[in-house]
Amino acid sequence: MSTACQPVIRSQAHPPFFVGVDLGATNTKIGIVDDLGQTLSYRTIPTGADDPTGAVKQIAEEVLDTIHVAELQLPEVAGVGLGAPGPLDLRQGLLLAPVNMPAWHNFPLRDRLAQHCRLPMTFANDACAAAYGEYWLGAGRNVHSLVLLTLGTGVGGGIIVEGKLIDGFHGHGAECGHIIIDYRDDARMCGCGQHGHLEAYASGTAIVKRTIEALDSVMKTSLNARMDHGAQLTPKLIAEEAEAGDPLCLEIVLDTARFLAVGIVSLMHTIDPDAVLLGGAMDFGGRDSPLGRRFLVTVRQEVRRRAFPIPGEQTTIEYAALGSDAGYLGAAGLARAEYQRHHPR
Ligand SMILES: [Zn+2]
Repeated sequence: MSTACQPVIRSQAHPPFFVGVDLGATNTKIGIVDDLGQTLSYRTIPTGADDPTGAVKQIAEEVLDTIHVAELQLPEVAGVGLGAPGPLDLRQGLLLAPVNMPAWHNFPLRDRLAQHCRLPMTFANDACAAAYGEYWLGAGRNVHSLVLLTLGTGVGGGIIVEGKLIDGFHGHGAECGHIIIDYRDDARMCGCGQHGHLEAYASGTAIVKRTIEALDSVMKTSLNARMDHGAQLTPKLIAEEAEAGDPLCLEIVLDTARFLAVGIVSLMHTIDPDAVLLGGAMDFGGRDSPLGRRFLVTVRQEVRRRAFPIPGEQTTIEYAALGSDAGYLGAAGLARAEYQRHHPR
């Protein structure tokens, strides 16, 4: 998804200021955000995933330079929010075992970055940070509670109730991608190594696996021709062919919506949120495309079929609004919430 933010200039901004950092396996996004959630300056840099020590040093330099480009002095910045791929040890500030980042296992990210930046740090799971971004500034800005599911290589989750992030006693709360939707021992294998989790059915990785299996079925498909011409089987290719009317690809996409709905109903029956938002790169074109709209309608229908009647009718199910900016905006928002706890108005 594209960038949602138009930066504002210093004279239009409202102090205090916060830095949001969204660390990813490939790229890291850094932004300076004011008290109203307006971005003054932001940038995306390659993470340098093989060398965490060097990467943290570079991120710190980029943070300080982004502050400088926003025409701010360091004392005007009240804190840094840092979102990182889970699982995390939130109390110790560690990345535990992020998938795709083997060099970062048990890495003390929060304290290392704090040493370089000399600013207070607020540390959160990246999907939780994105959920907070949507709650503060995005598709959830008018609700009291929400669940964000991020669909990409995996399925991430973030839960906000009355402005509070639900990250759990061990810091492993809101792992919505690992809700069990099939209890059988031979259920699909999840990226985490367990069977039957939502992510094993509804992630980008799962869609490709399910499609490979379905290629042997009797259903006609245009995929074979595309792959014969060298196209790689990706969620994007499957979405393109579904959009063009390929029955097999369309069925794969709509089944994904139904699997997702099973997980969503469990979350609704646990939390009863105002809104469930769908974010992440795998949005099938989102609300701007017929396929994206059909995907969303299928999720809603399946939720209504399976949920208690009142939440089934009344819970908002929508696409998230901030795209890939949700992570750094939410991280900055969490730093702001932490600041406000210590400096009540
Ligand atoms: Zn799992």
